[in-house]
Amino acid sequence: MTTRSLLALALALVTSTAVAQRDYSKVEIKTIPVAKNIYMLEGSGGNIGVSVGTDGNLIVDDQFAPLAEKIDAALQKLNPGKLKFVLNTHHHRDHTGGNAVFGAKDATIIAQSNVRTRLAKEANPKKEGFPVITFDQSASVHFNGEEIKLLHHGPGHTDGDSIIHFTGANVVHMGDQFFNGGYPFIDLNSGGSVEGYLKTVATVLEKIPADAKIIPGHGKLATVEDLRNFHAMLVETTDLVEQGITAGKSLADLKAAGLPEKFKSFGTGFINTDTWITTIYNSATKK
Ligand SMILES: [Zn+2]
Repeated sequence: MTTRSLLALALALVTSTAVAQRDYSKVEIKTIPVAKNIYMLEGSGGNIGVSVGTDGNLIVDDQFAPLAEKIDAALQKLNPGKLKFVLNTHHHRDHTGGNAVFGAKDATIIAQSNVRTRLAKEANPKKEGFPVITFDQSASVHFNGEEIKLLHHGPGHTDGDSIIHFTGANVVHMGDQFFNGGYPFIDLNSGGSVEGYLKTVATVLEKIPADAKIIPGHGKLATVEDLRNFHAMLVETTDLVEQGITAGKSLADLKAAGLPEKFKSFGTGFINTDTWITTIYNSATKK
């Protein structure tokens, strides 16, 4: 077994154990106002973006299936309308777990083509949770008085990520292309790429207005400044590891050397410093 598949296995075990042990009945859904008619819901799993208005409700990602009822209740509190659309930033279970529940209730699910392909390949796939509208590069939903753009930038966190821009409200949902305050998980086994991940974050930073609000896949509601700090960390840490590889260092050497002290807090979340170094190493040396 290669180091990469060992790492993937370890991550899968950590994730499935965490899911199995989580008591969803204790999870509370917290509603955070973002801008205008846009909100963010925090519960367990990826952050949910919400648009409410006269056209009805739209959400970006939907956490885990056992939370669907609570998510629904939070939406009804904001706007007692119909949930018309679910947009998925990517296929991971902590972002699409509620799809089958909302899809069965007639919400239209939209995502990049690879999201549908990957959901269909999972064990016990739930057809009602598959995206019914898919796209390769970009799509727009005209809803609640604004254009909501979905943009795929190529391989990054996975091979099916979308950055979702609420153009009227000036809000961007980054999906897992942004872990606010932490090292990112990059799913190399689902077509992800460290190089692509950095490129996507840089492209978003070039394009978004300085006063945009940013919903990260994980972590607190963010500003452009927070995304800039995240990007600076990505650039510096990947440069360091890649210079080490060029100098002939082994993965063990690189882990022993670690990363600068100033980034220590980034390694206290889901992805620790060793895992992040390993991800950069595996992505850079992938054949
Ligand atoms: Zn993810």
